[in-house]
Amino acid sequence: MTDLQTAEDICLAMPKIELHRHLEGSLRPGFLLLVAARNGLKLPFSDADGYCSLLKFRTFADFVRPFLMGVNCLHEPQDMLEAVVQLGEQLAADNVVYAEVTFTPQFYLRRFSLETLFHALNEGREEVRRKHDIEIRWIPDLVRNRYDVSERCFRMLMRCDLKAQGVVALGLGGPEEGHPAQTFKALFDEARNQGIAVNPHAGETAGPESVWACLQDLHAVRIGHGVRSVEDQALLEYLKIHQVMLEVCIGSNVALKVCTEDQHPLRQLRQAGCRVCLNTDDPVLFQTTLSAEYLRAHSHHGFSIDDLNYCVRDAVDAIHADLKPWVHTRLGDMA
Ligand SMILES: [Zn+2]
Repeated sequence: MTDLQTAEDICLAMPKIELHRHLEGSLRPGFLLLVAARNGLKLPFSDADGYCSLLKFRTFADFVRPFLMGVNCLHEPQDMLEAVVQLGEQLAADNVVYAEVTFTPQFYLRRFSLETLFHALNEGREEVRRKHDIEIRWIPDLVRNRYDVSERCFRMLMRCDLKAQGVVALGLGGPEEGHPAQTFKALFDEARNQGIAVNPHAGETAGPESVWACLQDLHAVRIGHGVRSVEDQALLEYLKIHQVMLEVCIGSNVALKVCTEDQHPLRQLRQAGCRVCLNTDDPVLFQTTLSAEYLRAHSHHGFSIDDLNYCVRDAVDAIHADLKPWVHTRLGDMA
């Protein structure tokens, strides 16, 4: 690092990839105001400051409210397209070259068909590719506490040519406690048989048993969060041996009070030999960026700049898409 280049500059300039980010958590307030006005909706804020005042998370419900407020603004296929385009601008600002973006199809299927949804998302994806040379792939997710709705959504997904739509994995989100992954075993077995990877959230709001269920029952190849794996030595050993990537989102964990910044187990996971990568989860809701997440790993969790560079390269080997050589080349070109 030179004297003129701060760690902040380096984290911003570093070419990156992102594997855990939700479209619904990437809707900027200015975009929401625009779309809401177009759709004749009234929002409980009129500028960025007003939006920020809604982001005080004492409980998980405090997070769900602004999350759903964003979702409820997206009425038309054009809104979905533009949501992807403004997400692409955020990725470009962070020097991201490749992202696997999660979205929750069941939010939208009351308004339009899955085919229309994919068409809009992929038009947006094409615009991001054209403007920024960034590749996006999709991870539609099912919701733990709504098995009935999730199953209907899953059936619709399985009738699509998912790979042709840019889908690389099936996710699982929602509250872990009381909603075990085992319930979804048959669905994820079917997805795997269709060549779709399994990429659930686990070990965030519930403990190691939730991660075990995703590994052993769902055959997950990557885990969203997984930070509470640190509570189980045998699980850490399993994650290390099987080289399962944990998609760590420090800002999200701190904002949702999974742990404090000081207690965050990022360093402990790495010292245990687990693979970790850095992500934003819902950057607009958590008021973070991918570069800021890199900087906090450097400033608070003992990651050197070389460690951060290693994290990016290692994350490339955990991407679901058949694009690893392309991503490595793009990272090299931008470095
Ligand atoms: Zn997430």
